[in-house]
Amino acid sequence: KPKAIIIGAGIAGIAAAIRMSVKGYQVEVFEANDAPGGKLAEINLQDFRFDAGPSLFTMPQYVDELFKLAGKNPQDYFEYEKLDEVCRYFYEDGLQLIAHADLDKFANEIDQKTRSSAKEIHHFIKKSQTIYEVTNQVFLQRSLHKIKSYLHWDTLKSVFRFGKIDAFRTQAKANQHFFKDKRIAQLFNRYATYNGSNPYQAPATLNVIPHFEYHFGAYLPKKGMFSITTSLLKLAQDLGVKFHFNAKVEEIIYQAEGKTSEVTGIKCKNQLYKAEVIISNLDIWFTYRNLLKNLKAPEKLLAQQRSSSALIFYWGVKGTYPQLGLHNILFAKDYKAEFDGIWKDKTIDQDPTIYINITSKHIKRDAPADSENWFVMINVPANEDQNWDELISLTRQNILKKISGILKIDLTKNIICEQILDPRSIETKTGSFQGSLYGNSSNSQFAAFLRHPNFSSKIKGLYFCGGSVHPGGGIPLALLSAKIIDQNLSN
Ligand code: FAD
Repeated sequence: KPKAIIIGAGIAGIAAAIRMSVKGYQVEVFEANDAPGGKLAEINLQDFRFDAGPSLFTMPQYVDELFKLAGKNPQDYFEYEKLDEVCRYFYEDGLQLIAHADLDKFANEIDQKTRSSAKEIHHFIKKSQTIYEVTNQVFLQRSLHKIKSYLHWDTLKSVFRFGKIDAFRTQAKANQHFFKDKRIAQLFNRYATYNGSNPYQAPATLNVIPHFEYHFGAYLPKKGMFSITTSLLKLAQDLGVKFHFNAKVEEIIYQAEGKTSEVTGIKCKNQLYKAEVIISNLDIWFTYRNLLKNLKAPEKLLAQQRSSSALIFYWGVKGTYPQLGLHNILFAKDYKAEFDGIWKDKTIDQDPTIYINITSKHIKRDAPADSENWFVMINVPANEDQNWDELISLTRQNILKKISGILKIDLTKNIICEQILDPRSIETKTGSFQGSLYGNSSNSQFAAFLRHPNFSSKIKGLYFCGGSVHPGGGIPLALLSAKIIDQNLSN
């Protein structure tokens, strides 16, 4: 059997391992941490369980697809439910909205409580669908870097409809025109943060993202987000994939023969492991800087602006709070100021938008009785050596004040236990350059074309998957990166 080595057991690395195994390769995965998952990990604190990173699950079919590919029944490994409620939104002026998965219901809620109409919402979501239809085949499902991708009829049809994707104005500008009520524009501007971007800079093409939630749906794995990692790990192991943990890869080895080079293996703990195919799941920045030190790196690509990072407080909280659901957003009063803080001043605004995720609302065993597991996250700039300790302590006070003000509760005395993750620890724990959540930002309309391809044009047999390469960050796209390698292998 030919041999494939995957570097990194992030979600895309595990997906790539499954695909290579199904393809007939003997597969070994080398992971620097003592556990799989990378960003898709979990934290246990006293009697509370938290998903460490992603909390929103969309496009579960990309996970199911891996079980089916291996001839297994997805439900034997992994179960999830479709959410009736996508999110609860809270504004400083007292407005509260529930985003129901049922679009009519959500549109009516907006119609009744704000100056925006149900018609505006339907019109907007239709536009979101059009952008999806045009971009899906070109930007998500195939390599942007292979001529044969453009020879597909679906792709060509999409290219002719490029005018529809709204790439030449910012998302915030477009949404200001779409919605009469600026609070609703704010609600839809927030989708830029789903890939760590700035709605005041990023193209309105990012208005595609609501389509994922309102058409395909928002989901929750029955055992929490981390079970996406554990169930795919189990599938990979059942297929015979061998995992090495605490195994930090030091170098990708290749051999130059005439004009072309070809991978021969990797070096880990000073030992050589041979393979015909190497797939790096690392952040592309570290792949070049640490594992391919002697290769000329694509400097322009690596110098691009990174996506934003996050500051997360994992709080075990005494009491239950019926005004909150699984996903909750407490909006900043001045959204522009928040993003100027992140992108211009590289700091945290004093009034940041707060996201609170409470899985114990659905998964009772995630918290002891009469208490809840709060994952409290705000968007922050990527790490450029800011004084994080000072920023974190100030922000902690600011968000406690904001939560108390909006929800009319005194949270401070109800926090039983706490753990904090910031851009520095995201970088050290998951190997993400500057602690960015989603690789490079999508603040420019050319971002999609400037992501690193899923293969090396210099070294035969070398491939790249994960959130920092094509087609981009987030679980669904990271899974697609492994699929694109699968489609293009041996080309
Ligand atoms: P990563 O998770 O980046 O893993 C890379 C792996 O490589 C790590 O395990 C690392 O230890 C390993 N590694 C690094 N160096 C080496 C080495 N030298 N040798 C061996 N192994 C190495 N996405 C969503 O879809 N929905 C969300 O709600 C969402 N929210 C998020 C919230 C947070 C706080 C974070 C951090 C991310 C969030 N994301 C979300 C993004 C999502 O988590 C990522 O896009 C996705 O998990 C990236 O997976 P990946 O395959 O690129 O690997």
